[in-house]
Amino acid sequence: MAQGGTRKTNVADVPSGSWIKCQSCGEVIYKKSLKEADFVCGSCQKHFRMDSVTRLSTVLDEDSFEEFFTHLKTVNILEFKGYDKKIATLKEKTKLHEGIVTGTGTIDATKLPLVLWILVS
Ligand SMILES: [Zn+2]
Repeated sequence: MAQGGTRKTNVADVPSGSWIKCQSCGEVIYKKSLKEADFVCGSCQKHFRMDSVTRLSTVLDEDSFEEFFTHLKTVNILEFKGYDKKIATLKEKTKLHEGIVTGTGTIDATKLPLVLWILVS
């Protein structure tokens, strides 16, 4: 096993969905190991993209995040062509209601409120 929780694996033996190939160095990484390594390739140090929920879970104390503005919904007020379909597709893909996640949380039980925003792409 290589440093950082990765290992060389024959791609033909990789079960679908459990492994990911590093786009930078070609290393095949077990997804669980990648999460334990904070989404950094142990072979080349490439930082993988994370969704907003995962990003928050790596930064904040467990169950400390309180989201703001959960009642707001994206609307196509300027009536851009195709925008409604794009919004629907992204909502389905991300399971989020907005393109930005905002809220407060704590780090190491620090009582000062933190304001974070995570742009969802
Ligand atoms: Zn890599």
